[in-house]
Amino acid sequence: MIELSSAPEVTEWAEAERAAGRRIGFVPTMGFLHEGHRSLMRLLRPQVDRLVVSIYVNPLQFAPGEDFDAYPRDPQGDAEICRSEGVDLLFLPTELYPAGFETRISVPALDRSLCSESRPHFFTGVATVVHRLFRVVRPHLAAFGEKDYQQLAILRRMVHDLDMSVQIVGGPVVREEGGLAMSSRNAYLSPEQRGRALSLSRALRAVREAARAGQTDTGELLRIGRAEIDVDRLEYLTIVDCDSLQPLERLQGRGRVAIAAVVGRTRLIDNMPIEVD
Ligand code: AMP
Repeated sequence: MIELSSAPEVTEWAEAERAAGRRIGFVPTMGFLHEGHRSLMRLLRPQVDRLVVSIYVNPLQFAPGEDFDAYPRDPQGDAEICRSEGVDLLFLPTELYPAGFETRISVPALDRSLCSESRPHFFTGVATVVHRLFRVVRPHLAAFGEKDYQQLAILRRMVHDLDMSVQIVGGPVVREEGGLAMSSRNAYLSPEQRGRALSLSRALRAVREAARAGQTDTGELLRIGRAEIDVDRLEYLTIVDCDSLQPLERLQGRGRVAIAAVVGRTRLIDNMPIEVD
């Protein structure tokens, strides 16, 4: 496995691979890798000739007072995981934005609901950094987790609208035993908080089961979900259209139930597909 930190060197490598007819797959991350990240590497590995993982804690997507400085890091463990998943190039950018970089990318239509309400600059930071990473790594395929469902929708839309020649692949949410969605931020949770954090996925499952049993009134579905929640602050529990991400009043066919909540000082998100016959 090659490790590079210089963006121009990565682009040179990628151009040479492309010129030799090899297909490049890419998994961008913020590090402190876990099974959720591994699942994306495993999803792409058989589909590509070269697999690239990046680890970059992107300052553009953190607001003042958020956990940018405290974000967990484990460079050695991360490199070990990448090696064991057959990664060819681990990109560890020291500097990703050239001096004077002022451009921002946003997808306003999908950046109003869900996490945008509490983190208004977050998805502009995400879209901008992913666009920048794609320019550097030049991938044919890039994988993102459904754990960050709104992020995935925004990136799909960015790639479509800007006619970018990369295919976005989504991977299902990977959970710990008990249902907690894996996240690097779970490392912040005490054992007691971890217990209460399980109530997020419990609420989503309760909504999913009630929908399966025929309940279509989203007000009633959300009431059933809220009864399960044991957190310090619920930011949202909502049922949205899978594509527009707009809240639904009545579930017809498929939808997505999504939650964001704070346990202790840790903000957690999760979501599940739901369906009524
Ligand atoms: P992060 O390092 O948190 O920025 O995540 C990097 C990528 O891994 C993103 O595409 C996430 O959606 C994905 N990811 C993180 N946690 C999970 C999970 N539990 N299941 C599936 N994908 C995940």
